[in-house]
Amino acid sequence: QEEKQILLNAIRDVQDFPKEGIVFKDITTLLNDKKAFNLLMSHLEKRYKEYNLDYVAGIDSRGFIFGAALADRLNIGFVPVRKKGKLPSTTVCEKYELEYGFDEVEIHLDAFHGKTNARVLLIDDLLATGGTANASAKLIKNVKADLVEACFLLNLTFLNGKQRVEQHTPVYTILDV
Ligand code: 5GP
Repeated sequence: QEEKQILLNAIRDVQDFPKEGIVFKDITTLLNDKKAFNLLMSHLEKRYKEYNLDYVAGIDSRGFIFGAALADRLNIGFVPVRKKGKLPSTTVCEKYELEYGFDEVEIHLDAFHGKTNARVLLIDDLLATGGTANASAKLIKNVKADLVEACFLLNLTFLNGKQRVEQHTPVYTILDV
C-alpha cells in the first residue's frame, strides 16, 4: 500500500493534453525518480519471475520502457508492438477503432522466432478503453504465441477497459485510478 502511494505520487497529472478537457497521466516523472522506478521494476520482477515467461511484449511507446527493463531483469527477450509503418521486416497487423477513426498496430511475423506457444507477457503504461491492448493481444495470438497476461501500471477504471481485455486475457493492473 505504501509502495502504491510512492508510485502514485511519482505520476504527474497534466491538464488539457493532448487536447482540452483531457487529464494526461505523465509517467516521465516516475522514470526520472530513481526510487519510484526501481520500486516499480522490483515489484514487476517479483511477480513475473515465477511465470516462466519466454518474452515480454511492450506496446508503443511507453510500454517499451517498462517492458524492456522487465525483460532484462527476467533475462528473457523483448518484442515491440508498434504503430503501423515502423517495423522494417515482415509484419502482421491489426486495425482498431479510436474515438475518431482507426489506428493499427503491428508485430514482426518472426518476433517469437516462429516458436509456437511461446509464453508472452504484454505490457503497457496505461489501460484506458482497452482498444490498443485488445488489438495487441490479437497480434500475439495470431502469431501463435501464448499470451499469459496483460499488465498495466495504470488503469483508468471509469473507461472499463479492464473488463474488455479480461474477456480473453488475464489482466494485472498496479494502480486503479
Ligand atoms: P486505450 O487503447 O486503452 O484507450 O488507450 C491506451 C493507450 O493510450 C496506451 O498505449 C497508453 O499509453 C495511451 N494513453 C492514453 N491515455 C493516456 C494517459 O493519460 N497517459 C499515458 N501515459 N498514456 C495514455
